[in-house]
Amino acid sequence: MSDRLLIVDDEPDFSTFVKRVAEGCGYQVRTTTNPAEFRTWTREWRPTHIFLDLVMPEVDGVEQLRFLAGDLCAARIVIMSGFDARVVDAARRIGTERGLDIVATLQKPLRAAELRQLLESQHSDEDTISESALRDALSNGEIRPYYQPKVDIRSWTPVGFEALLRWCHPHRGVLPPDKFVPVAEASGQIDQLSSTVARQALEQLGQWRRDGIDARVAINLSGLNLHEEALADRLDALAGTYGVPRELVTFEITETAAMAQPLRALDILTRLRIKGFKLSIDDFGTGFSSLVQLHRMPFCELKIDKSFVQDCDKAREARVIVKTMIDLAHNLNMSAVAEGAETEAVLHTLAELDCDVVQGYALGRPMAAPAAVAWLSEWATAH
Ligand code: C2E
Ligand code: MG
Ligand code: MG
Repeated sequence: MSDRLLIVDDEPDFSTFVKRVAEGCGYQVRTTTNPAEFRTWTREWRPTHIFLDLVMPEVDGVEQLRFLAGDLCAARIVIMSGFDARVVDAARRIGTERGLDIVATLQKPLRAAELRQLLESQHSDEDTISESALRDALSNGEIRPYYQPKVDIRSWTPVGFEALLRWCHPHRGVLPPDKFVPVAEASGQIDQLSSTVARQALEQLGQWRRDGIDARVAINLSGLNLHEEALADRLDALAGTYGVPRELVTFEITETAAMAQPLRALDILTRLRIKGFKLSIDDFGTGFSSLVQLHRMPFCELKIDKSFVQDCDKAREARVIVKTMIDLAHNLNMSAVAEGAETEAVLHTLAELDCDVVQGYALGRPMAAPAAVAWLSEWATAH
């Protein structure tokens, strides 16, 4: 998969200069001066890299960043401008806070050597997964969910598992989702990926119930899945196929994904709730949602991001943030779940702060289905 660079700039001479250098570094390059064309190409050509001029006559760079964020664009973005550094820095913050991957800012005029160095350092990873390898893996069944336990902190009983995808690669071992979920998102395969995990996790849950195992599962959805209008119907039909009561299934959506297109998200999420599924807002605290929007969305659970949980026993600030999020969840009638609890001390602090459910290495790692069942019986014996 070669790197595709899209340049949007109102000075054609400048674009031509960047194009020449980038092609020398092995990039495929398209340039445009037209904001509408820029938007069409980001959707249809799916650039891996974008060079964005901040100052454009019709649609400025900040508006384009907002558009890219709304589209959950995964490209590496470089912001360019002749403006002073503070303006460029502010634009960078606007992009990063909306979840975009802003890798650099450049002050015009540029020197070819500086540009070449940047482009060389920004090639996609050598070990990047190709779109077609992912397609094969999806159809071969190499991509499977692992299950990580969630435990009720008051009664100390397991409440279920989060399904976390793993690619069991024949040569490269078990690959974590951050290696291939972005490839699925960028190559239009995210619907198949989410179907694969939902199908396997629901089938597993149905099997566990027939085996007399009382469990629930949580399944992650990508923000891009929220583009499919029939999503709720499809997931409902799948649950029907495997005889799974809807209330045993939670869908997790990250805060950033839910807020990228709040109206569309609200529509689909509400329909999932009407069908009986539960909803969780994932990685809470890392995105930015307005409290009004949060309150409007029909979430049942707020999942506090592990970056706050990990040291909440030691760092006063993290502890205050975790406590505030737990109170927020309770005040909005949601349950508070903490992910990333790695030590006994963190578990203890979370109990003290009135958290409801915990998940983390201190309790159990993500495991293949048979190991998850073994974990349940060991837990029952030990507690
Ligand atoms: P997430 O949904 O926030 O999942 C929690 C991540 O934290 C998991 O990483 C889990 O293994 C990790 N984790 C759990 N406990 C601990 C702990 O105590 N310490 C530390 N350091 N980490 C812990 P994982 O499995 O690598 O998944 C990463 C992300 O990939 C997930 O974050 C989720 O956003 C995404 N993902 C996983 N499976 C799927 C899927 O089926 N579909 C989609 N769209 N995304 C998925
Ligand atoms: Mg999750
Ligand atoms: Mg999370």
